[in-house]
Amino acid sequence: MNPGKRPHILLVAALSASLSSVPSCSRAPEKIIEDSRFFMGTVVQIKVSIDPAERGEAGAKDAMNLAFDEIKRIEDVYSVYKDTSEVSRINRLRKNERLQITDGVLNLIHKTLDYSERTDGAFDITVKPLVDLWGSARKANKPPDEPELKRALGRVGYKDVVLDEAAHTIHFKKEGMSIDLGAAAKGYATDRAVRILEENGINNALVNSGGDMYCLGKRTAHELWKVGVQHPRDRNRLFLKIRLKDRAIDTSGDYERYFVIGGKRYSHVIDPRTGYPIGDNVVSASVIAADSTTADILATAMCVLGEKGFGIIKREPGGIDAVLVTFEAGRLTVKMSEGIRERYDISQEKL
Ligand code: AMP
Ligand code: MG
Repeated sequence: MNPGKRPHILLVAALSASLSSVPSCSRAPEKIIEDSRFFMGTVVQIKVSIDPAERGEAGAKDAMNLAFDEIKRIEDVYSVYKDTSEVSRINRLRKNERLQITDGVLNLIHKTLDYSERTDGAFDITVKPLVDLWGSARKANKPPDEPELKRALGRVGYKDVVLDEAAHTIHFKKEGMSIDLGAAAKGYATDRAVRILEENGINNALVNSGGDMYCLGKRTAHELWKVGVQHPRDRNRLFLKIRLKDRAIDTSGDYERYFVIGGKRYSHVIDPRTGYPIGDNVVSASVIAADSTTADILATAMCVLGEKGFGIIKREPGGIDAVLVTFEAGRLTVKMSEGIRERYDISQEKL
């Protein structure tokens, strides 16, 4: 869970700043309360729309605090940067050594392995040896050589992760394997926070974990939540604005989180099949799904798959949409999933 995607949150805030309470003729206006905290290397923002007739502000604030507590808990369990996390314990396993893991971790890993299958390995949490290799290359300002790449690639492969659902254990079939849930955990944290809000009586809220967002219910009785996606080459502009209800939107891309080695720009998203960061053809992918974990996973996968990804999301249950920005013949080009404009109130600025 590296720092990243921070600008989205500012832009989302900007979109609704002018609408902090919206009058209606027959009833008390909803009030929006919001709070932001720093978790998982990013700013997490929660906004709650309160109907004063239904629920008081104090109760809503309590619910928000519980949601933030849950996000902190998730960071403590899932972070690869904390030695004491459950994921770090998994990453210290030797070949065939088993570790008992908690339900939440087991279920999330299970989901990511499913998506590895469905994306032909474009999404793969066992990519960590490659993430580490490219991280060292960045520090040394020198790309890895072929033998190093081959060695790291030999330690990657979702098919060599074994979950025993009955015994609640995980083990790796190869030596030196490790996992990185960074491409799914922010979305998962968003979903968990939403669940906690709902369990505490909140029906209308927006949770934004550094660009991995979920819109619960509506902003007011008359309007949906409106979120924005940053222009891929200009952090001061929005390129997409979309109204959503009970939907997540997550964006992955090269524009915030990339690194430079010897003057060449590399994406933080790696193709686990080749060992190389994705090329400069895909600039960003935004995915809309019924939950933020799925949207987070598929946004990363779409970055690896490019246009081919549309074929995959089309087959997914639950109605998944995507907006892909590519760089072709010296121009930024936008491609959207078929029918997205009929399903959503979406506006797009020219790139
Ligand atoms: P996201 O910002 O959600 O696209 O997540 C990117 C992060 O996920 C990277 O910083 C890596 O830690 C990890 N990652 C990179 N490539 C992949 C991949 N192909 N599949 C799964 N995780 C990846
Ligand atoms: Mg992701």
